[in-house]
Amino acid sequence: MIPGPIEVSPAVQAAFSVPPPGHLSKAVMEAFGSSLSRMREVWIAAPDAQPFVTAGSGTTAMDMAAANLVEAGDRVVVVNTGYFSDRMVEMLKRLGAEVSSVGADPGDAPSVDAVRHALDDARRRGGVKALFATHVDTSTGVRVDPQPLARLAREHGALSVFDGVCATAGERFRMAAWDADVYLTGSQKAIGLPPGLALLVATARAMKARESLRAKPPMVLDWLEWLPIMRAYEDRKPAYFATPATNLILALDASLREITARGVEAHVAVHERSAAAVNAAWKSMGLVPVPRREELRANTLSALRYPEGVDASLVGKIQERGVVVAGGLHPAIRNTYFRVGHMGYAATQPELLLRTVRAIGDALAACGAPVDPDAAVAASERVLASK
Ligand code: PMP
Repeated sequence: MIPGPIEVSPAVQAAFSVPPPGHLSKAVMEAFGSSLSRMREVWIAAPDAQPFVTAGSGTTAMDMAAANLVEAGDRVVVVNTGYFSDRMVEMLKRLGAEVSSVGADPGDAPSVDAVRHALDDARRRGGVKALFATHVDTSTGVRVDPQPLARLAREHGALSVFDGVCATAGERFRMAAWDADVYLTGSQKAIGLPPGLALLVATARAMKARESLRAKPPMVLDWLEWLPIMRAYEDRKPAYFATPATNLILALDASLREITARGVEAHVAVHERSAAAVNAAWKSMGLVPVPRREELRANTLSALRYPEGVDASLVGKIQERGVVVAGGLHPAIRNTYFRVGHMGYAATQPELLLRTVRAIGDALAACGAPVDPDAAVAASERVLASK
């Protein structure tokens, strides 16, 4: 129950667990092509939006988005909600961009007005190329609302890029309706796979921005190198640029089929219900979330402060009870909180959520915290039964 790599469904595990198929095999061509069109469905993207799947991780997808849109001298704005936004800032600086990072205290997000101010400022100084935001920052469990940010970017003539590594398929995102330009993720999170794939969808506008770059991105990140390959796979034709992670492509197709069979909105609703269920338990045990306001709390993970008298040894005590959760990550508050993932397959399995609540409750009680694990489990059960 860490916030990735997550548990995967039996169908995903079965699809993955085969002798490595060739990248031009019929099975891979079919799974790759089907996955690309299903990504448009899960991203709720326009028919002309371009999906990309490459070997790598969420960081690869971040680097790919940055390197195809931004070059030296470009002005960009980063909505900074924690550890992964800081990583985006560093990537953009390495590309030679002039970065304006709009931050907030850990557990908070900058206001839309603060972002507007930064975009206004960048525009006054000659134009702003892009806005970057982390949909859910995994270091704090803080979720931003992408819709007003995408709108603001558009109003300022800027592209908008959202890091959905800890969000995609578990949080609401309507790429076409919100007019967002890139939504990216990694395979080991809510999209429901083992680690090893970088996934993103880019609008036609973003693809044009790549074509206008003066300097080409590193070859393996270059959308224009990958574009003919993605198109070929979607047409179920063989093509090669760099070897895909073939087992993961089979797993991707299996996972996207499960998500689209349920329906994207329904799949997000399952995550909402699971988050509500565990939140009821946290509340019953008096655990304080790192996100400062209700609307900042993600569906996909909980970041929870250690109660008075409890320290990071709690994580080991939870593990002794058969459940693995994660420690803190944000450098400013690292030793004051722990993190529980509830995305992907786990979000669809009430018994996994309840086991997690039980293990955390029992471990807290063993640390001397005044909690009632039975009441916490009952609080979760009530939410799961009512929705
Ligand atoms: N962005 C976010 C929001 C993340 O949670 C992570 C990984 N936890 C990353 C980016 C980086 O992804 P990866 O570790 O797969 O490279």
